[in-house]
Amino acid sequence: MIASGADRYVVAGHPVEHSQSPFIHTAFAEQTGQLLDYGRLPCPPDAFATTVQRFAAGADARGCNITLPFKFEAFGLARHHSRRALLARACNLLRFDADGWFGDNTDGAGLVHDIELNAGIELAGCRVLLLGAGGAAAGVLGPLLAARPAQLVVANRTSQRAVQLVDAYRAAAGSAGAPAPQLASATLDDCGSAFDVVINATASSLQQAAVPVAGSVLKPGALALDLMYGAPAQPFLDWARAHGAVGRDGLGMLVEQAAAAFLVFRGVRPETATVLTALRRRLAVQQP
Ligand code: NAP
Repeated sequence: MIASGADRYVVAGHPVEHSQSPFIHTAFAEQTGQLLDYGRLPCPPDAFATTVQRFAAGADARGCNITLPFKFEAFGLARHHSRRALLARACNLLRFDADGWFGDNTDGAGLVHDIELNAGIELAGCRVLLLGAGGAAAGVLGPLLAARPAQLVVANRTSQRAVQLVDAYRAAAGSAGAPAPQLASATLDDCGSAFDVVINATASSLQQAAVPVAGSVLKPGALALDLMYGAPAQPFLDWARAHGAVGRDGLGMLVEQAAAAFLVFRGVRPETATVLTALRRRLAVQQP
């Protein structure tokens, strides 16, 4: 039941039934004493904009998070954008401001926070391989580069999309005064070897498909992080361990990107460690 007078938020996507965002944001609201209701908004693939607009027209609707596959489309719905959303050309949240919707992207901030503060690995000077060129990869690219890796290679199944993502980022970053000389694109078959950090931002785990690169991409002791979590991430984590790397799932990023989104929505940054622990317990997922 929706509490009377509560501000309303949803996570919009297709599919969206599996999303843990309602649990996370409800926990943040309880922790910070904010009165809000957070639910799910299933969107048909060809009706994302109209479905979100209908929700936004309702009383008390204040914003939404966006999950796959609508992050690029969400960018086009916002009148105002954060700098990180402009660099990504993709949004994972829309805030329904009175003077026009504000679009932001907290995926990259969440990922970098999880790697650097939760896992304790400094990205500066690392060689990083980013797998994927979809909405998630676009969102994390800028914040990863801002952490000053020595090299960042983007590789994707459809290699042309990796080229396009890198070219689009370079164009946007150049005009924003954030050039990225350490950035390159590659194919999955020929993306280099012995990286310090490998990030799987493809949907391969979600689809229960094979890890899309050879084990030689991992340096011994490398961090191998899959944006997926739970049982679907297990084959990737097993693959990482089998090749001498340290596996990490996407639950930490999920909670951190949500905390950054909560700050944009409510002006308050929640504490994340207890919520991550509760989420691992709820999903019966151990810290890898
Ligand atoms: P998306 O926009 O649909 O992009 C999917 C990407 O995965 C594309 O690069 C696609 O390559 C690639 N791909 C799909 N199936 C593949 C396969 N079998 N082998 C290799 N590559 C494959 O999706 P997205 O929004 O980027 O999300 C990607 C994943 O990240 C999802 O599993 C999502 O749940 C997860 N995610 C997690 C968090 C978190 O907080 N933990 C946040 C965001 C996303 P092509 O270009 O060749 O099609």
